[in-house]
Amino acid sequence: MNDAAMTFGFRCNLCGAANLPDVQDGPAPACGGCGGTALSRDIAAALTERLFGVPHPLPALPLDDPRSGITIGAAARCVGAMEQRFACQHAGGDTPLDLARPEDASLWLAADFVVCAAQLVRLPPPVSHGFARLHALLRPGGLLVLAEPSAPIATTIEHVPAYHDARILAFGAQRVLVNRSASGAIQTFAALDFPDETDRPVFRRFATGDLPALLAEAGFRDIVLHDPAPFAFGTTGREGGPVVTARRAA
Ligand SMILES: [Zn+2]
Repeated sequence: MNDAAMTFGFRCNLCGAANLPDVQDGPAPACGGCGGTALSRDIAAALTERLFGVPHPLPALPLDDPRSGITIGAAARCVGAMEQRFACQHAGGDTPLDLARPEDASLWLAADFVVCAAQLVRLPPPVSHGFARLHALLRPGGLLVLAEPSAPIATTIEHVPAYHDARILAFGAQRVLVNRSASGAIQTFAALDFPDETDRPVFRRFATGDLPALLAEAGFRDIVLHDPAPFAFGTTGREGGPVVTARRAA
């Protein structure tokens, strides 16, 4: 830790704002200038490290970088900063992109990079379909920045491993997933997490141990698990696992 870091807390790599130390917010607080989360700052650091060799603050980049990008998930959007620097489109609003629908991916042109945040964990099994659709969104050699919650364990845990034909039932505020497996067995899951009041639960917990292998099976190479961004960006102590980058094989 140097004197500048102790004085300023951190300087946001999304908007450039200096954030004073505030122990009330705990580790990895949101930026007081733009509201960007520590995850968004880590995503921007990983993306710029892979594009430019070192993690640049976005405000230091030229405004006319011709590279095209697709951002999927709220944290991936980095509160609009990405669209100001790159030919970058957010997969929402008028151009929805649902990785659960294979036809959606075909509507997008091959991008130079794709940033995907907290989407694959909520994709019904098999998750290999999600990796394949991300792969299809990229041009050969294009860069994937993946920010899915993961744990430092060996093997990804599927919460509904025999997912086949499922319904979600609501009992007041509680939602229960009822699955009929391929063999006809009826299973109920009453403890799944449904983030953001949506009807799509968290289907899995990724493991840092096998995430590289899952990416490699989908045709990615040059896979990097990024340590938290430099202290200067205020992401030290962020939970949720590393941001992972990989390139589509040329
Ligand atoms: Zn900021």
